[in-house]
Amino acid sequence: MNIHEYQGKAILKSFGVPVPKGVPAFTVDEAVTAAEELGGPVWVVKAQIHAGGRGKGGGVKVVKSIDEVRSEAERMLGMTLVTHQTGPAGKTVNRIYIEDGSSISRELYLSCLVDRATSKVAFIASTEGGMDIEQVAHDTPEKIFTMTVDPATDICPHHVRRLSKALELNGAQQKQMASMLTSLYEAVTKSDMSLLEINPLVVTGEGDLLCLDAKVNFDSNAIYRHPDITELRDETEEDPKELEASKYDLSYIALDGSIGCMVNGAGLAMATMDIIKLYGMEPANFLDVGGGATTEKVTAAFKIITSDPNVKGILVNIFGGIMRCDVIAEGVITAVKDVGLEVPLVVRLEGTNVEKGKKIIGESGLNVIAADDLDDAAKKIVEAVGEAA
Ligand code: ADP
Ligand code: MG
Repeated sequence: MNIHEYQGKAILKSFGVPVPKGVPAFTVDEAVTAAEELGGPVWVVKAQIHAGGRGKGGGVKVVKSIDEVRSEAERMLGMTLVTHQTGPAGKTVNRIYIEDGSSISRELYLSCLVDRATSKVAFIASTEGGMDIEQVAHDTPEKIFTMTVDPATDICPHHVRRLSKALELNGAQQKQMASMLTSLYEAVTKSDMSLLEINPLVVTGEGDLLCLDAKVNFDSNAIYRHPDITELRDETEEDPKELEASKYDLSYIALDGSIGCMVNGAGLAMATMDIIKLYGMEPANFLDVGGGATTEKVTAAFKIITSDPNVKGILVNIFGGIMRCDVIAEGVITAVKDVGLEVPLVVRLEGTNVEKGKKIIGESGLNVIAADDLDDAAKKIVEAVGEAA
């Protein structure tokens, strides 16, 4: 789960991490009141969307008067902000953050994530922080420093020394880093973050460390432990189809192609996507209905797929292990009767109760193309979509 920058900073602050003062605003008037409260003389008006790269897209503005706060708030609220992370359609800005403007002498990069390869918490840092970190990682990977922290020992003095050296901090800053690193580590582990990215972490004009940006991602599998964090979810930032899917506990990710896929098991879903590509088309989604799907769940999944206008054909590919093929067949029929079917549909069933499943589909009177195996199924859906076009 993602949250906004200002929410991430509030969490960091509660763990004792230094962040600038700021107030979120949903209207221009709220923005002006916030700016007056903060007092200036420099403010930063920041669009709050679940994507980075806002600075380059015009979503972060440093201003020096209340009038400018007002005009930037007017400009940003309601705008469609396009950044390299939003995709070409961009995202609507519904809230902004008014923050104290900080003096900056150096912009550093620091992030922390769960490293599955080492089963440890990894910190990644660079002296080349700011808006071009992706470029730095690509062109000069030697400028990216990584260290891992063993959850059995947590943060030790040598971690602070190594990180401070990598970031070229002086003695006073190293002291600040000692407490900041512990606080960041606690924030990550105690609130079950899967990613925390601070870019930039700055050295201010006064020589102090301060976090000017915060991107936070939580491990969805652990979110039930944090009702207070669950409340921060902003559903307007999420893909409506993915949101609907999450209500039914379906693993669904929207993609750009034209073949809608309904598959059980992540591995089979990947293989199905691969084989669609092999036959020259692109999948419109990744969808794993899971091992123990009910008719209700299958119906919901089918509706999500058909509601996507990019879907020009549907491929249902199910291996009935725990999942029974007749349940899938019934789900498909129910959904088609409910929402109609305007695109070709290929169904490939295999496994438990496969004959029963095929019979249900055969007797339904629906225009379903049956397939025998994965290869056959992919070939048939690509052909059917090609013919329909
Ligand atoms: P994004 O990563 O989405 O572009 P950031 O929050 O990192 O957004 O802001 C972009 C840039 O704006 C930062 O690299 C920094 O130079 C500047 N900036 C952001 N917040 C502040 C602030 N409070 N004071 C001064 N400059 C800021
Ligand atoms: Mg940033």
